[in-house]
Amino acid sequence: MGIFRPAEVTGFRLASAEPWPTSKAALADQLDMFDQDLSRLEWVPLEFRYSFRCADKECPGHAMGLKDWEAGESYRKFLRKYGERAVQDKLRERWFDRMFTPDRAVHCFVGNISAHPKTFMLLGLFYPQRKVVEYIQEDLFPL
Ligand SMILES: [Zn+2]
Repeated sequence: MGIFRPAEVTGFRLASAEPWPTSKAALADQLDMFDQDLSRLEWVPLEFRYSFRCADKECPGHAMGLKDWEAGESYRKFLRKYGERAVQDKLRERWFDRMFTPDRAVHCFVGNISAHPKTFMLLGLFYPQRKVVEYIQEDLFPL
């Protein structure tokens, strides 16, 4: 597991999610779930996809789907609260508009997919206020 700060986030979209393998055991095999508790995972029809550029000057851009239990949970919560028609707008507001603002320093937690060690997936987002992060020693969050 690693953490990095994207140089620039270039987009966010909600894509149709791939169906899961038939068992959670197969899913656990496919993904390194670290300490995420598999029993809390439920399939959601949308995948939260972020595109960004890293600090590499030659960066061609990256896109990653967020595999965070909290994302699925907010989908279910917003669906109940706002209904099918508004759920995507509300998710975008919560998971993009309010996170990627000039006063926040977004960090990405990433992990490998065990079968494809060079493929990273996004396990979580951490978006403290930028002014708070500036007090933290740079070596805690190597860029
Ligand atoms: Zn890059």
